[in-house]
Amino acid sequence: TVELGERSYPIVFFGGADAGVFVLEKIRQTGRSVTALADSKVWDLHFPKNDDLLCLKIEGGEASKSITCFDNACEFLATNRIARDGGLIAIGGGVVGDLAGFVAASYLRGIDFYQVPTTLLAMVDSSVGGKTGINIKAGKNLVGAFWQPQVVYICTEFLKTLPPEEFSAGMAEVIKYGMLYDAKLFDQLEALEHDLTWDHPELSAVVRRCCEIKAEIVKADEKETASSGGRALLNLGHTFAHAIENVAGYGTYLHGEAVAIGLVLAAKLSVRLVEAGRSGFAVSDEDVIRCHALIERYRLPTDLRISLHRVAGDLAAPKLSIEALLDAMRRDKKVRSGKLRFVAMEKIGNAVTVDDIPEGWIRDIWSEAGAE
Ligand code: NAD
Ligand code: ZN
Repeated sequence: TVELGERSYPIVFFGGADAGVFVLEKIRQTGRSVTALADSKVWDLHFPKNDDLLCLKIEGGEASKSITCFDNACEFLATNRIARDGGLIAIGGGVVGDLAGFVAASYLRGIDFYQVPTTLLAMVDSSVGGKTGINIKAGKNLVGAFWQPQVVYICTEFLKTLPPEEFSAGMAEVIKYGMLYDAKLFDQLEALEHDLTWDHPELSAVVRRCCEIKAEIVKADEKETASSGGRALLNLGHTFAHAIENVAGYGTYLHGEAVAIGLVLAAKLSVRLVEAGRSGFAVSDEDVIRCHALIERYRLPTDLRISLHRVAGDLAAPKLSIEALLDAMRRDKKVRSGKLRFVAMEKIGNAVTVDDIPEGWIRDIWSEAGAE
């Protein structure tokens, strides 16, 4: 359960080969009139052809988190006379979840919605916590709302059809939870004899643990207003990652790939804090090597020289300029009163926010990572 007072909701885990059929059954049991926004690929792969659920299909991929898709979805609900007591169900990855959540938050000033995440990233991260939104020309996720779902239904069976590079990208967020919150989870991932895959016997437990961690953090700081720590800790590696995605052009790196590099750079930043004698910091070079190794295990990039989508076949990494990366960081919406905010590890499993990092360090870190 994500405990948020009257906005609390359960995360329901279920198994079985017919995930799509199960979801439809569960939704019908709510007895309310629901409409779906579904990733078109997922809908075709996992849902019965002859089902009469009212459904608007959406293409996966960042371009669908747009004002145009938002407008289409609202018109779809209105045309089908969905009333305030109706519900919206999001079936797909983070793109459909973020879009549908924002539609649900806005249509008739808010209707209930349900999350059915079908990517690893959406299962462990975007479907839980109530951040919804779309992109505008000026930037990613700049328009949105906090709007919590009624229920999140998770079945790892959906991941059977997920492209391998998308699975790896989701693993970056899984590793992130170990690094920022749970040394035991980190150890568990390291100790696995076989890498996690959709049918690995431990995958469900790992996804579940990630959801628990997200729920605990969100419970303590639902709207990311804590002056330090809190929900911002979930951004470990993300100040770097957002800059990479922005400068390389959205869609070049998968989000999880940019996060993978960001996590390694955040670990390196943490070592600098140790070297500078900051109290509380005790990360060693050995710890950086452990993070690097775990990320590398899922064929994710660990710096800006390494090619992308390696599980699916290499794509050469674009060259990125240090100045452009620093500039993108300064424009990040997480900047507070002009100061760059980073999340660093005191040790593996324990992260904190830091607001006073010298720009020279960041310049050096980008340079060591292969920026020019
Ligand atoms: P996505 O939704 O675009 O899905 C990735 C690709 O996988 C798409 O091509 C999609 O069609 C396909 N796909 C999805 N499920 C599939 C399945 N089961 N089988 C086969 N193909 C499948 O991307 P994503 O990585 O899930 O989500 C990224 C988005 O999530 C970003 O926009 C990011 O901003 C957002 N996000 C939001 C939060 C939050 O808290 N709201 C957190 C993290 C990320
Ligand atoms: Zn992320």
